[in-house]
Amino acid sequence: HTAVAGIRRAMDEQGFVDVWTPAMTRGTPEGARDFLVPVRLQPGKFFALAQSPQLFKQLCMIGGVDRYYQIATCWRDEDLRADRQFEFRQLDLEMAFVEARDELDVMEVAVCAAFEAVGRRPPPRPFPHIPFDEAMAKYGSDKPDLRFGMEIQDATAITRGSEFGVFKNAPCVRYLAVPKAISRSEHQRLEELAKEWGAKGLAMLSQVSKFLSEAELSAFAVPEGSTGLFVADEEPVVAKVLGLLRLHLGRELDLIDHEKDVFNWVVDFPLFEQDEETKQWTFTHHPFTAPAPGVESWDESAPGDVRGQHYDLVWNGWELGSGSIRIHDVEVQQRVFRTMGLSDVEAQSKFGFLLDALAMGAPPHGGFAMGIERFVAQLAGEPDIRQIVAFPKVSSGSDPLTGAPTPMPDEVLRELGVKALPQEPSSRA
Ligand code: ASP
Repeated sequence: HTAVAGIRRAMDEQGFVDVWTPAMTRGTPEGARDFLVPVRLQPGKFFALAQSPQLFKQLCMIGGVDRYYQIATCWRDEDLRADRQFEFRQLDLEMAFVEARDELDVMEVAVCAAFEAVGRRPPPRPFPHIPFDEAMAKYGSDKPDLRFGMEIQDATAITRGSEFGVFKNAPCVRYLAVPKAISRSEHQRLEELAKEWGAKGLAMLSQVSKFLSEAELSAFAVPEGSTGLFVADEEPVVAKVLGLLRLHLGRELDLIDHEKDVFNWVVDFPLFEQDEETKQWTFTHHPFTAPAPGVESWDESAPGDVRGQHYDLVWNGWELGSGSIRIHDVEVQQRVFRTMGLSDVEAQSKFGFLLDALAMGAPPHGGFAMGIERFVAQLAGEPDIRQIVAFPKVSSGSDPLTGAPTPMPDEVLRELGVKALPQEPSSRA
């Protein structure tokens, strides 16, 4: 209550207007599945519960409300985790005639106001920026925990000429210099973990040093008493495994300074990513994020190099939320849809209301959303948002208090034009 009151006060003082937007709408593409609501008056048709008010808030900007905010409830059908419930709230905001810096300033003010409201010293501003590529290379994560060092180091160049085939042939070789001696059995245990995370192996520098020249060996930053742990593989595997290992060892070796609060912005994300299976390009965050300033067109079949004006807010390794400068030019918006494989006809049928509004002239605008429960859990020092949510759901997706969800009688379903198919009970239910 106190944190949210602080946030509301900060938004009010910064001139934002609280606008209520519909929960029942058309699917909003935020990357999760929709919860559907059948409609008795139109049997067989469904609303989706808003995954976020994204398009409504953009329409507010086009409609002339220059500063919108809401503590908005959002619904996303995703597996439940420590930082995820089906329904959650976010501080959702949007501003017209702004650049990224303005938007990030507003968010920083709101975050600091919540700290002050609960009687804590706010983090220093401005929050530092870290480019996505650097976060992935040094921390193996797009939500790096910066409360401790032990950064991932690159050894791809050093190991190119190596006699050791695994190193020489791997597209990417990186390592952690762990500040302690690691025994054979500890190494085995860590290697098991690395394999669970997708690595083929986890090498210790001492094991492979005989394959490396003096010059190669001296190029490694592994001080006396420390242990070099390597992964050699495709770059995404190396980043993921060493990123998880860094966090694991950070906790196990007590390297994390729990007195510290580190907020940071992750910037310069790619605008598109490729689906591993279908090879179809799709949005990294949502399809309304603007490309980097000045970029208006790209090769629609190979957009991998395009960066987006997107920002993630991270606190001690927790992703609190994200936002972006939006596309306000209808042609750029159509180009994004085409890159995602939507024909102009499909785009018009799904998003015609947005395209029409953009075509009427939209101001440059941008906005942000920060998860309230994640933020409050972090403020309260709780590792799971269920600890600060009244009446949370458990990980099977049910509400243990009321017993929901429940089956519905046939006549209710009939009225809605819905048929329940018999299902294998889920093993997790
Ligand atoms: N709609 C986005 C989300 O819910 C946030 C934003 O871009 O403003 O994650």
